[in-house]
Amino acid sequence: MSEHPVVDVTIIGAGPAGLAAAYYAGHREASCRIIESLEQLGGQVAAVYPEKHIFDIAGFPKIGGQEYVDRMVEQGLQYGAEALLGEAVETLERVEGDGEELWAITTDSGGPYLTRTVIITAGHGAFEPRTLPIEGLEEWRGRGLHYFVKRKADFAGKRCVIVGGGDSALDWTINLQDTASGELVEVDCEALILQLGFVSHLGPIESWGLEVVGKKQVRVDPTSFETALPNVFAAGDVAYYEGKITLITIGLGEAAIAANQCVARARGVKLQPAYSTE
Ligand SMILES: Cc1cc2nc3c(=O)[nH]c(=O)nc-3n(C[C@H](O)[C@H](O)[C@H](O)COP(=O)(O)OP(=O)(O)OC[C@H]3O[C@@H](n4cnc5c(N)ncnc54)[C@H](O)[C@@H]3O)c2cc1C
Repeated sequence: MSEHPVVDVTIIGAGPAGLAAAYYAGHREASCRIIESLEQLGGQVAAVYPEKHIFDIAGFPKIGGQEYVDRMVEQGLQYGAEALLGEAVETLERVEGDGEELWAITTDSGGPYLTRTVIITAGHGAFEPRTLPIEGLEEWRGRGLHYFVKRKADFAGKRCVIVGGGDSALDWTINLQDTASGELVEVDCEALILQLGFVSHLGPIESWGLEVVGKKQVRVDPTSFETALPNVFAAGDVAYYEGKITLITIGLGEAAIAANQCVARARGVKLQPAYSTE
């Protein structure tokens, strides 16, 4: 039915809530796959404010956004969750598996990915980098057109043009000075790095039969974080219930509840907190 193994839990979105859900699922020995539309982990923190400081994460009086992402990734993926980057989830369908009901997920570039349960931690929807309105520009993606600087070495000795006026554009202009050569404002260049921010939208998630509230969120039962669909849960900014507050701390708690519900459903084990201390 699919070349990809069936997993207990599939997490849509690798922001703080998704990474926390991966931790809790892994800690309860569930197999886990996490699918993220961006080429990087960390959600809004990594995409929008990696260089800012956060002051309201328990245990950290002050922590840099990227440092927090790095710690979440190390913690969230420690049990071996499979992380698929650069794939935006498009469809969710109920299918008959080998004697059990499963969900089948397809993305813009892969699938079907079969899973017993789903946790939607999609924030405000799939992030896409903003681009320039130039016809045919996308054809150069990866061949001179870049939206992310993953490794400075990739740009060594190249003439780079960085487009954008925000913090990250300036950061990379300064950061690549010792790596790249030539005028940074040269029109004639080998690498065009667009740092124009991101746009996001729930997109296909809106058509899955969930109760969408205000085009941005999905209604959940706040006692279990289950959505209107069986074995499909939501946590973090995307999850809505009366009194919802969209903060990282809140999303982490919701992810813990949703992941434990998934484990109980997928593996038929008791719903319990399972302390992590050894
Ligand atoms: C400037 C700024 C400052 C902030 N400061 C604070 C603060 O000080 N303290 C605090 O608690 N909160 C703060 N927040 C809010 C905080 O960042 C969010 O509450 C948090 O990131 C939500 O986490 P999340 O995991 O629910 O979603 P997100 O971080 O939004 O991650 C969701 C991820 O899901 C992916 N995704 C969505 N749809 C799909 C799809 N269909 N397929 C694949 N992937 C998908 C997205 O690309 C994204 O990476 C701030 C937000 C901003 C913008």
